[in-house]
Amino acid sequence: MIFNQKVSIVTGASQGIGEAIAHELGLAGSTVVLVDIQKEKLEEVAGRFAAEGIKSLPLVADVTNGQQVEEAVESVKKDLGRIDHLINNAGITRDSLLLRMKEEDWDLVLAVNLKGAFNFCRSVVKHMVAARSGRIVSISSVVGLMGNFGQANYAASKAGLIGFSKSLAREVAARGITVNCVAPGYIATAMTEKLSDEVKKAFLDNIPMKRFGLPEEIAKTVKFLCSDEAAYITGQVISVNGGLYM
Ligand code: NAP
Repeated sequence: MIFNQKVSIVTGASQGIGEAIAHELGLAGSTVVLVDIQKEKLEEVAGRFAAEGIKSLPLVADVTNGQQVEEAVESVKKDLGRIDHLINNAGITRDSLLLRMKEEDWDLVLAVNLKGAFNFCRSVVKHMVAARSGRIVSISSVVGLMGNFGQANYAASKAGLIGFSKSLAREVAARGITVNCVAPGYIATAMTEKLSDEVKKAFLDNIPMKRFGLPEEIAKTVKFLCSDEAAYITGQVISVNGGLYM
């Protein structure tokens, strides 16, 4: 298995794309640290993984809280001895037109989607620098590349992740650490399930492949970026969007 003995941290791992990423890395041999805010959901996922022989460690932490993140990362280092992969996946939406957007909805989306990645990277990178190896993948969005009606906060957070990742990639490239983004298009998860049928149809009309993506399709891209085959890829944004944005 390609990730035997490796340790991967995945945030927002109790459902959707995060769960699929953790599953994929776990099947490849990694011990996956499942980070999320609801303990019961995390334990349920860890139970299902165990039944498949996947080693995992559920860890409750709010990505917006730098102190909780630091403590979580230090506990992983102490208990598992190493951190090979960090996947910044936790993300939320609070959509509205800018004219009606509440300041708290701007702040919360930026806090989870962008500051969450900052918090985790800052706590993890020192261990990766010491090990002179590591892989960081952050889940951006097609919306961070093209913008979207009613999603100024979300688009700003996802575009911010790209600038953040490119900057960090430059800072740590010489230490054997790669930093990349994956930008999914519309993926069939709880986040997109909330959309009305009318909005879903409008999206599908614009997707050349005429279907939503699967969480597993994002997970396999993340797995590739974490593999030895991707050792010379850093500071990149890999779009997985069925042709929605080219
Ligand atoms: P999802 O089903 O809503 O899952 C997101 C997970 O993040 C949830 O388990 C959520 O927990 C957790 N989370 C929220 N706030 C958190 C916090 N402060 N600390 C720790 N965990 C937190 O979303 P998804 O569709 O799988 O999306 C995953 C990522 O892909 C997100 O970054 C999203 O922006 C991005 N993305 C998704 C799509 C798509 O079409 N689905 C497209 C492009 C990009 P709770 O449920 O308890 O809040």
